[in-house]
Amino acid sequence: MENDNDEYTKELNVAVRVVHMACSLCQKVQKQLLFPNNSNQIKSKDDDSLVTVADWGVQATVSWMLSEAFGGQNISIVAEEDVQTLSKPESSSQLGMVVNAVNECLAEAPKFGLKGPNDALGASQVLEAINRCDSTGGPVGRHWVLDPVDGTLGFVRGDQYAIALAMIDDGEVAIGVLGCPNYPVKDDSLIKYSQQCPFMSEMSSREEGCVMYTKKGSGKAWMQPLIHGDKRLEWQNSARTIHVSSIDDPALATFCEPVEKNNSNHSFAAGIANTVGLRKKPLRVYSMVKYAAIARGEAEIYMKFARSGYKEKIWDHAAGVLLVQEAGGVVSDAGGTPLDFSRGIYLEGLDRGIVACSGFKLHEKIIGAVYASWESSNL
Ligand SMILES: [Mg+2]
Repeated sequence: MENDNDEYTKELNVAVRVVHMACSLCQKVQKQLLFPNNSNQIKSKDDDSLVTVADWGVQATVSWMLSEAFGGQNISIVAEEDVQTLSKPESSSQLGMVVNAVNECLAEAPKFGLKGPNDALGASQVLEAINRCDSTGGPVGRHWVLDPVDGTLGFVRGDQYAIALAMIDDGEVAIGVLGCPNYPVKDDSLIKYSQQCPFMSEMSSREEGCVMYTKKGSGKAWMQPLIHGDKRLEWQNSARTIHVSSIDDPALATFCEPVEKNNSNHSFAAGIANTVGLRKKPLRVYSMVKYAAIARGEAEIYMKFARSGYKEKIWDHAAGVLLVQEAGGVVSDAGGTPLDFSRGIYLEGLDRGIVACSGFKLHEKIIGAVYASWESSNL
């Protein structure tokens, strides 16, 4: 980030600020979700609609801000949400909530060093911004890749979730930004976080989260704390570099995996852990915060073995993979091949699963154990 003439510097600069804005939007919606004004019970309907307000709200905000900064209508954005449900007549109250959340967020742009719209956006403009993110990526040119809210269950539970924004250039991830509103900047905060039950009443007193970011070939990754209230984002003062852990002894290593069994085969991962000599209990974390934990040096290994036939989407990995790599780590599929972000919205050709490690030594051991265990597994 030191040299303004470097490739991707402007893109990264804007992307980081936009992710800060998105974090602010999500935190407001999450507070409404966890502290509803008039009742202390979360109804499942309200909770669904608030989740989607965050998803759509972030997608509209990021889409609008990126389009303003980079090429208007011609920008290519690959993102998770579409407008099908939101455009239906019966969704009008939800659309109203999304429009309000987006305008409130865009009005804060100057706090983050960006310029928002002169006038509040109308519903059709918000729908148009969401709908613009209909690119399918591919091997040629620049494509922005967004997961507006990654880890929906974590978001609903007041636990970990992430806003993930990346840019792919000619098939390779060029920049990666992860907003982690519930991941405090202090060391070991994720392990402490997972040890205490995240009671909702503690939400407001918690330390605040962070944004992590990197660009390809920099060999560096950075972290900034989120800002709150009337504070302005102080780029230079607040950023510090992050690095993967230097632990390469499996007995001392911490490994992360998805919380939900549906998303990853826990027993297969436990077998691998046993084979390579991991001693600690797995750290189960929602969302791409798992990649963040490896990049920050708080954990050494992330393993995910989805059920066969499940296709991983690029927005669930692009930003996290680049962060781990530039912070000094290694990421591949479970066969040891680097992930291929050039083939559309899916990670086509992915072999069995994903393995991210703080270094080559651990990575080699895990991949070796996957080959040895595969025959006997019944995935
Ligand atoms: Mg999502």
